Order: sequence, then C-alpha cells, then structure tokens
Amino acid sequence: MTSPTDAEISDHIAKAGRRAWEVPGLDPATPRREVRTVGIIGAGTMGGGIAMNFATAGIDVRIVETQQEALDRGLAVVRGNYQRSADKGRFAQDEVEARMARFDGRLAIADLADCDLVIEAVFEDMDLKKKIFTELGQVMKPGAILATNTSALDIDEIASVTGRAGDVIGLHFFSPANVMKLLEIVRAGETADDVVATCMDLAKTINKIAVLVGVCPGFVGNRILFARQKQANKLLYQGVLPWDVDAALNAFGFRMGPFQMSDLAGLDIGWSKGARTDNPIRDALCELDRRGQKTKAGFYDYDEARTPHPSSVTADIIRDITGAAPATMPQDRIIDTCIHPMINEAVKILEENKAQRPGDIDVVWLNGYGWPADKGGPMFYGDMVGAKAVLATMERLGAEDPEFAPARTLRRLAADGGKFTEIDTGGLKV
Ligand code: NAD
Repeated sequence: MTSPTDAEISDHIAKAGRRAWEVPGLDPATPRREVRTVGIIGAGTMGGGIAMNFATAGIDVRIVETQQEALDRGLAVVRGNYQRSADKGRFAQDEVEARMARFDGRLAIADLADCDLVIEAVFEDMDLKKKIFTELGQVMKPGAILATNTSALDIDEIASVTGRAGDVIGLHFFSPANVMKLLEIVRAGETADDVVATCMDLAKTINKIAVLVGVCPGFVGNRILFARQKQANKLLYQGVLPWDVDAALNAFGFRMGPFQMSDLAGLDIGWSKGARTDNPIRDALCELDRRGQKTKAGFYDYDEARTPHPSSVTADIIRDITGAAPATMPQDRIIDTCIHPMINEAVKILEENKAQRPGDIDVVWLNGYGWPADKGGPMFYGDMVGAKAVLATMERLGAEDPEFAPARTLRRLAADGGKFTEIDTGGLKV
C-alpha cells in the first residue's frame, strides 16, 4: 500500500473535479436550449428536493402530482426545508416567500406542455415511466428536454416511447436532492448533443457537480454500490455479523457501512408483504416489521435518539437463514472483500465505455456516496493498494461467483504495473 501525501490526494481530487466537466467530442460552441421554466413530475422525496434546486436558483418550477393531498404534502415539505434554513439565519424570511412563489402546483401532466425541461421523479416502475413519457412525447412543446430521475432503469427503453428520443436524458439526483452535490447526467443512445450541453450548463446553474455517464443498470454510482452490497450480504453467509461489516467500513472512512445505509434508506425498497426476493434475510426482517430506522428496527435496534444497537433478533434470523456459525474476520479482509469488487466493477464500467474516464468515477463516489477524501476515490485507492492486491481478491471472489470475475483490464494492470487512474478505454460511447 502506498501512502500519498495530502497534497497529492487533494491535487487528484481537484483535477478529477475539473476534468469531469469536459466532454470530448462535444463542440463547445453547441447552441444551448433555453431553460426558463422547469416541470417536475412527482412531489415525493426526490421531486420536492429536485424542484428546490431550481427555485433556489431563481428558475420557475411547475410541479405535478396525481392528488391534491400529495401535492400539498410535497409543497409543505419544501416550505419546511426552506423555513428551517431561514430559522438558522441562512437567508431572510422574504427569501422563503420568494422561493415558494416560484412554485406552481398542478394535477395534470398536460399543464407542463410549455415547460423547457421536464424531470420525472415518480415511483421506480418502468410501466409507469413509459406511460408518462408517452404522454410527454404527445403534449410537450417541440424542443423541450425530457429527463428522468430513475436510479437504475433503462433510459433507452423510456426514450423509445416518446417519438423524440433525442430530447431524452437521465438527470440522476442523489438524496436529499436539495443537499447532495452530485448529479449523474445519463446520456442515452440517441440523446442530442445540445441536450447534453444544456444539462451540463444547467448543473452549474443549480450548483451541482455533474458527471456524464452512459446507460447501464445502476449507471456508475449505484452499479458500484450494488457490487459492494452483494459482497456485504455474502459475508453474512460466512457468519460475519452486519455490525462487524459496518465497523470495518467505518474504519475505512465511510460514515455509514452497507447495513447502516440500508437501515437509513429503508429495507422495504423493492419488497412487499409475502415477497420472496433474492435477499431472504432482508425479507425476514421486513416480515417482522423491521424495515429500518423508520420503524426503529432493521438490521439494528434503534433507541429514541436513533442510536443503532446490534440486535440479537437480527443475529438469530441470520443464523437461521444462513446456517453459518458466528465468525470473526479481520477488518482488513472485510474491507478488501467489500472495496476491491467496487474497483473491479469500475474497471468494467470503463471497459464498457459507460464512464468518460477513471477520475469521473472518483468524483461520483466522493460527492454522491461519502467515499473518504483521504482515499481519493475508488480508482485512486486502487492505485494505493495496487492492481496485484485487487486481482488477488477478485480471483478469490470470482471463483465463488463468476459475476465477480476479474476484469480484463485489471489483469493487464496487475501484469504490467499500470495504474487505475490512467486507464484509457476511449471515453463514453453510446
Ligand atoms: P416517492 O415515492 O417519494 O415519490 C414519488 C412521487 O411520485 C409520489 O409522491 C407519487 O404520488 C408521485 N406520482 C406517482 N405517479 C405519478 C404520476 N403519474 N404523476 C405525478 N406524480 C406521480 O419516490 P422517490 O424516492 O422520490 O423516487 C422517485 C424516483 O427517483 C424513482 O425513480 C427513484 O428510483 C429515483 N431516485 C430515488 C432516490 C432516493 O434515494 N429516494 C435517489 C435517486 C433517485
């Protein structure tokens, strides 16, 4: 393991952050589309937060829900967020009113017809999204940009129903969307150059850090997250307990480990009563109404102050399901088992040309997922530990599950001493 200096780490982070804005192949003189009014579909967790970014930047927002109550609820959350900031002295009360005055709540998608940009943030359901994008294709004015905030669905499939796929793009915000800096801009197969250029500029206007990525399940950030989550779950089958996995990742520098994060997000995402998914431990916890922090129990038990405590109920469930006796594993091995697959997945993303460059992957994880700054991002950290060490882990994990087989380029780096941060596979291709 090499130990870069603080200056080397901050230099890498600064350079990667600057380069992420560069889109090779996109003519800087590309005319931008004018964006004066933004339509948002869905005033839930994401829709409300996304809308706040625009209202804060002085842009009018028209926001659509299916029911008046949901619309009122969504707008009340927005007002509450602004009010809390004003109460803390971040801006004057007048500013709360000025921002709220930019909101216009509606109950019909057709009311968005003259918006310059529409961002869809309804439930993560392909049929629902296709229904909405079919309507957007019919009602929106020519030249409007049609964006989806989907976390992982195929944007080419969504675009295919609009009759104007060139106008369709992914704008993947992170939760809470009014706070998190990262914006994955997802270029689909037919997204027009001026739509990409306009959205990159718009990201700056709303004070985000944009990274341009391609369409693949989970895009860049979540795809790498899924790899870590799968390995964390596999560790439970070897008798390692969730709090031991989290403690190792906390020691690595993540404020939250995989199970702490699952409890915060809610274990019932993608679960319904009686469901038998590919994650039986999660299913069993949900059946007991241990659905995460919101039910005061998930992988952990929570007290009134929301402090997590290891749970004997969870430990018993895991033992019943996995049949594994409780085992201890050195923290270093837990870290390698969870982190090296993220590096391997990032390399596969670059091989598939779904990211522009290795530094962009670091920007995504530093700004969207709390990657510890002293480890520079997954690619930078890969160079700290070296490709040989990553390959050794992936050969072990790949032998258990072919999904984790070492990437071709990982083998090459290990053989010729190359660096992850210098991988050049030709950039983004759609
Ligand atoms: P949510 O359930 O909080 O909100 C969805 C809202 O959409 C609800 O208020 C619902 O009433 C509304 N809605 C449903 N159908 C509608 C329609 N036809 N017209 C208008 N409104 C409609 O969900 P969320 O967490 O905000 O997620 C929304 C999208 O954002 C999903 O695609 C999700 O994958 C994605 N996303 C979520 C997160 C996250 O952390 N929650 C992060 C990034 C992306």
